Amino acid sequence: MKKVYLQTFGCQMNEADSEEMMLTLAAKGCTQTQKLEDADIVLINTCTIREHAEHKAISYLGRIAKWKAAKEGRKIIFTGCAAQRLGQKIKKKFPHTDIVNGAKNIDNFASIIEKENLLEGQISEAICQQNKSSIRLINIMRGCSCKCSYCIVPYVRGEAYSLDPKNILAQVDAALNAGAKEIVLLGQTVNAYNYKGFSFSKLLREVCSFDKLLRLRYLSPHPMFINEEFLQTLKDCPKIARHIHLPIQSGSTKILADMKRNYTREELLAKLKALKEIGIEVSTDIIVGYPKETEADFNDTLTLCKEAQFSAAYCFKFSPRKGTPAALLKEISQEIVEKRLDILLNEIKQSSKAAYARQNGTTQQVLFETPTNGRTSNNFWVRTKKKYPIGAVVDLQIKESKDTILLA
Ligand code: SAM
Ligand code: SF4
Repeated sequence: MKKVYLQTFGCQMNEADSEEMMLTLAAKGCTQTQKLEDADIVLINTCTIREHAEHKAISYLGRIAKWKAAKEGRKIIFTGCAAQRLGQKIKKKFPHTDIVNGAKNIDNFASIIEKENLLEGQISEAICQQNKSSIRLINIMRGCSCKCSYCIVPYVRGEAYSLDPKNILAQVDAALNAGAKEIVLLGQTVNAYNYKGFSFSKLLREVCSFDKLLRLRYLSPHPMFINEEFLQTLKDCPKIARHIHLPIQSGSTKILADMKRNYTREELLAKLKALKEIGIEVSTDIIVGYPKETEADFNDTLTLCKEAQFSAAYCFKFSPRKGTPAALLKEISQEIVEKRLDILLNEIKQSSKAAYARQNGTTQQVLFETPTNGRTSNNFWVRTKKKYPIGAVVDLQIKESKDTILLA
């Protein structure tokens, strides 16, 4: 029985893709190992969203040449967005790579494994091993059709398409029957989901109707697709997490237009207000130093953050990605970008600390992800002295907040 060591780079979308590929390998009789030394196959799932992410994946591929050379028969599969962007150039530069399979080809992973004879001599198992974790990631869309001017995703993952709800709901059912408590629906613009008129809100309601479901999350929604139907669904369905990760990218209407985000600062503020009124905590992604970002534009981002009081934010320096329109624009000085990033990170640190502090004295339902750490519905981390089984769901009173952890 071949053992597979998995190395995933990048976001939750990639983690979901990795899970899908691992299930394919499991169906062909492989098991997963946490020890590289024991592995027969290394599956590397890569990200190319920023240059840094791609470099990390490639340097890992370079480093494991030694692992492959140490024992005959070992194999390396290089998949995901960096594999899509670089294609067969990877094999030229790193001849120890056995299979390069781009992100657009993930649906064909099983047939590629067959074609390449990677598991020669291995007996397939008829029944696919079921993932036993308490949180289950499920892809509901592939690709993205938004074409934000800085983003490489639409080029490496292709146009957006929604997956059949029948299939999605069958996966939800199977995951819940296997013990999952929380479902995370994934897509690059997850709230643009629409399968022949079957909307994202309808899907949320259907998933919530499973008795065994405790909590439902979704990632990444786009501000443009937040509509009345969605807000009403949040109000009606308390199983939907009281948290949204809503990437805003900027608080300047001018920069948002340059980025082709299709919303203004004012529209964003109105949507953030509507979410807060329902009791939804908001975290976000922000890009600092987009070409032509002036002090006034940056200040708009800063004041928006002050007003929105995000519970967390990933702040990225603009990274020009070859092939995107923004990569052709003149970059602004790195010194200015660093300075702005520092100011923004400081602002986010304050708002995040304040958001955690607001939870003091409240009672929260915690889903444990390690024996002493779990998450609340509004996505705050809680730590306990007492140990709980992973997957336990416990109502706990919050005694104290320390920066970005709640103590119970
Ligand atoms: N689809 C999501 C959305 O549009 O809201 C975001 C998905 S993207 C994989 C994750 C984050 O990476 C984005 O929200 C953005 O902040 C960041 N990102 C994407 N391209 C970038 C670039 N060229 N430079 C810096 N950050 C970038
Ligand atoms: Fe990239 Fe924009 Fe699509 Fe998000 S919505 S994946 S940022 S193109």
